[in-house]
Amino acid sequence: MPILREYLRPATLAEAVSLMEARGNRAALLAGGADLIGALESRLHPDVDAVIDLSQLGLSGCYATDTHLVLGATATLTDVLANETIGALADGLLRKAARNEGPVNFRNAATVGGIVAGAATDSEFYAALLALGATVSTTAAAQPEALHAVGQKGAIAGIITAIHVPLENAHGGLARVARTPADRPIVAALAVVAGHTTRVAYCGLATRPILEGADAPAWSDFRGSAAYREAMVRVLRARALAAASAT
Ligand SMILES: Cc1cc2nc3c(=O)[nH]c(=O)nc-3n(C[C@H](O)[C@H](O)[C@H](O)COP(=O)(O)OP(=O)(O)OC[C@H]3O[C@@H](n4cnc5c(N)ncnc54)[C@H](O)[C@@H]3O)c2cc1C
Repeated sequence: MPILREYLRPATLAEAVSLMEARGNRAALLAGGADLIGALESRLHPDVDAVIDLSQLGLSGCYATDTHLVLGATATLTDVLANETIGALADGLLRKAARNEGPVNFRNAATVGGIVAGAATDSEFYAALLALGATVSTTAAAQPEALHAVGQKGAIAGIITAIHVPLENAHGGLARVARTPADRPIVAALAVVAGHTTRVAYCGLATRPILEGADAPAWSDFRGSAAYREAMVRVLRARALAAASAT
């Protein structure tokens, strides 16, 4: 039996919203497909029989304004890494996190919007956005909302259109433990120090990346128990802050 009845490729955001609203839970938004295609093939979303491809909406730009780095929702990690501003941002924190997200073939497909919507527990890129104080624009809200606040609600409503990262004079530090240097982390801490403001974000600690202080219990999987993750986070937090303060 075919998995999909409909493959839809809207040319405008308004059309995408209307297609999504008409189909409700039957439709999934398709970005790079790095997560969604496997999930559909494994029949993890049995109610979904339509995909709405976001690739033609003109949301793939990455550019700097006077105050922010704007990452379009369908920009891939490769697009993000090609942006000149990213290297100077918090000592290259976002660049390091984008590289750690996965190998080049994955980075060529996975998009900013897909990573933010997926909020995978071990996403260093998502955690870097939290530490950098990013906000997220969606079709469901008139103004950009703080990523950490949106994330606490669980699933993001609407279509993500862009992520905005403040261009502040900040220093950054990243510390991680992983099974191998090239692997995604078991736990990682990402710190940003901007003037008198310090933000530390963690990935791998809870079921989704979190900003320090969020009410989210530590979790366990085959790579480490909750107790191990909590112990590691204390060490990694100190290392990430030391790195951010030393630069
Ligand atoms: C080793 C490894 C492990 C991974 N583990 C996980 C994991 O545990 N959990 C996980 O979720 N992902 C995991 N991923 C996948 C990855 O972290 C992201 O989920 C993936 O990059 C999604 O990006 P994409 O553009 O390919 O999105 P897609 O696969 O196309 O979509 C992913 C999800 O995001 C939604 N989405 C995409 N774009 C938007 C948008 N603009 N607005 C609103 N919703 C949108 C889709 O509807 C879908 O539900 C893993 C990847 C690797 C390499």
